[in-house]
Amino acid sequence: MTSMSKIHILPDDLANRIAAGEVVERPAAVVKELVENAVDAGASQIQVSVEEDGTKRIEISDNGSGIEKRDLSLALHRHATSKISSTDDLFNIHTLGFRGEALPSIGSVSKLTITSRIEGEDSAWQVVCHGGDIADAVPTAREQGTTVLVENLFFNTPARKKFLKTARTEKEQVKETVTKLALAHPEIEFVFMQDGRETFRLNQAQGALLEDMLPRVAGFLGREFSENTVPVDFERDGMSIKGFVSLPTYHIGNNRKQFLFINGRPVSDRVLVGALKGAYHDMLHHGRHAVALLFVNVPPGDLDVNVHPTKAEVRFSNSSAVYGFVHTAIRRALAPYSTTVSTTPAEEALAKFQNAMPMPQHGQPSMQSPSFVREGASAPYSAPYVPRDQSVQPARQAAFIHNLNATPQMSVAEPLQQASTEDFSSYPLGAAVAQVHKTYIVAQADDGLVVVDQHAAHERLVYEKFKTQMAEQGVERQALLVPDIVTLSEADVEALLAHEKGLEKLGLEVEAFGVNAVSVRATPAILGSVNVKDLIENLVEDVRNLKSTTSLQEDMEHLLSTMACHGSIRAGRVLAHSEMNQLLRDMENTPGSAQCNHGRPTSIKLQLKDIEKLFGRRGY
Ligand code: ADP
Ligand code: MG
Repeated sequence: MTSMSKIHILPDDLANRIAAGEVVERPAAVVKELVENAVDAGASQIQVSVEEDGTKRIEISDNGSGIEKRDLSLALHRHATSKISSTDDLFNIHTLGFRGEALPSIGSVSKLTITSRIEGEDSAWQVVCHGGDIADAVPTAREQGTTVLVENLFFNTPARKKFLKTARTEKEQVKETVTKLALAHPEIEFVFMQDGRETFRLNQAQGALLEDMLPRVAGFLGREFSENTVPVDFERDGMSIKGFVSLPTYHIGNNRKQFLFINGRPVSDRVLVGALKGAYHDMLHHGRHAVALLFVNVPPGDLDVNVHPTKAEVRFSNSSAVYGFVHTAIRRALAPYSTTVSTTPAEEALAKFQNAMPMPQHGQPSMQSPSFVREGASAPYSAPYVPRDQSVQPARQAAFIHNLNATPQMSVAEPLQQASTEDFSSYPLGAAVAQVHKTYIVAQADDGLVVVDQHAAHERLVYEKFKTQMAEQGVERQALLVPDIVTLSEADVEALLAHEKGLEKLGLEVEAFGVNAVSVRATPAILGSVNVKDLIENLVEDVRNLKSTTSLQEDMEHLLSTMACHGSIRAGRVLAHSEMNQLLRDMENTPGSAQCNHGRPTSIKLQLKDIEKLFGRRGY
């Protein structure tokens, strides 16, 4: 007897189930594939109906082209597609689907029923695929178009089912999926039903103009957004971008209202996200995010959509060109609202400003950039500071940080003439003379003029203090007299609660409060009386982005820096002289305070001798 070869080709049904693991890892992914098929079929109406978490029943109906009888069972075979036929096509894709994997994958892990009728045909045809077994097509009644019914999803892959999140999370994912697809296709009427109730219905946009899209958008992004929006409409080098971004004055605590599309595909793409973030970089505080709905189109040949099984990621042949294009388009749209001051003629004088604080030397306590700085690394900017070779003074606890927060927001600056310059002018950051624009502290040092960005500086101090406390026994907590109830989405509540223990180490006590809220019982003492709702909303964003589900440890610096930003005195807060001086002293005594958490300098200094040069008192 000849021995059997060890290697064999897997049977089709097994191969399909393996593919299903990638293509349809959860009910929302099934919904995505089926709606995309309806869009590709040229439908002008799509109805999505889902029961419970989607494993029980998903039904998608469309009025698109339909599928011919002889193609019906073919469509259920792997790599069966009507959308491409050659490698050339693969690099020039105009449809959402092309891999021919969705239907066979879904059919291998559910009971899949497809009913379809094409134009000019008398009858509709129906085919059932149950766990991969395809029955013969039978005639039935239906208008032109296709209905795909998926029942008992994952009935034969219990492991997959076990990996699903709670019903409410899955439901929310499904809703998000339909929302994004509906936003991407204003030309299509969408009806979305959950458990027999209509969740939303979107009529076809009335025209192809940007404004015609707004009524559809308003429902998702909020009326406030449509009142605080700037249209983006720009074309260059064969690329185009259309959509809306929020005014710099309108922003939210997370980035989940950034809907980005490439060639009609909802994507979470680093290039686009980075370009959007970069465009607002000097207009939004850390932790605040723009709201955006942007449709970017690039020539299909410049985009590889075949890099991810569910096509959630794409690759550009020239990502920096796309970055530049999107960045420019948004900056242009925002230009009239930008707060950027144009370059003044005194450029040479500005060039004389230096980072006022010595940069720590090699091996000094960390002032490593937190991870969000790395995240923004796609932005073509680098922090403009001039390192100098001096050592920092020994570390001392920045004792004043807390008091600064405790001071009432309305504190009034002492009159200028009371400022005393004697005491501190020999210190590196000098003696506070005044606060300008409620944002900068101007100080006089023996050898020059110092300007400090109060928010950036304080944020860094709080952050460093956080790290010190963390390194000891965890961040000091301060119990709230009355727990603060913060309403969140169900998924956010889950994300937070999954890290209850870790958050406690960060000084936050959070516990469940129904499905839609958390009760916050304690906050980090160092933050003083902080706006709990804002803090939690910001943190949730970070927590959701955590890579590891088991520990906050690795991402701790990021979380701390988010919290630090929160507890820090804002630009716009009036400071008393004593507060300003205390801030300057704390900075001198805190290693790593020369840069804010974003890598920008916290203070700059113009040497007296350079001022003299500027005024012609001294030769060049
Ligand atoms: P792909 O979309 O990658 O081509 P699918 O497995 O999703 O692969 O679908 C296989 C084929 O079935 C499609 O290429 C298309 O011809 C046909 N099809 C699927 N859904 C529909 C639909 N709703 N209307 C018309 N044709 C459809
Ligand atoms: Mg498809």
